[in-house]
Amino acid sequence: MEKRKAEVDNFVCLNCRNRFFVDTYDYETYGMWHLRCNKCGQKAIVNTSKDTVWGKISERVNEKYATYSNSDKNRHDDNHPRTIELEKSFEETCDPCSCGGRFEVRAKPRCPKCLSTNLKELPPSVIDEDSVPDNRIRITHTQWEKEHAKQT
Ligand SMILES: [Zn+2]
Ligand SMILES: [Zn+2]
Repeated sequence: MEKRKAEVDNFVCLNCRNRFFVDTYDYETYGMWHLRCNKCGQKAIVNTSKDTVWGKISERVNEKYATYSNSDKNRHDDNHPRTIELEKSFEETCDPCSCGGRFEVRAKPRCPKCLSTNLKELPPSVIDEDSVPDNRIRITHTQWEKEHAKQT
């Protein structure tokens, strides 16, 4: 069997000269959201079709924007106010990173060595999927669910 390939984005850190890559191979998988800690760069994933909190948040945001221009084109526009509000609202429900940072959809990648965001992007490359370390963690909502239970 042929080995599965993964596309990775390559970076060089302009602060410490460290070269590293960030895997992107399943970014586009339907329903998967990738977040990143805004302090340490730790990646986290959420499967929006299984995440119960995501369902609630997206319902609320969709209701609010029901009368808004809702064509498919706009729904997938990164800069559509609905998209931004959905991201922000969801981020508020996520447990913080173990470093104390917040998981954000649009947080910038960071150098794993010195945590700088001063990076230069190099051309992407394709490598064996096996050699991509799976260091992503799953988003949890323990804190949000506790507070939410109190209110109702
Ligand atoms: Zn660095
Ligand atoms: Zn962190």
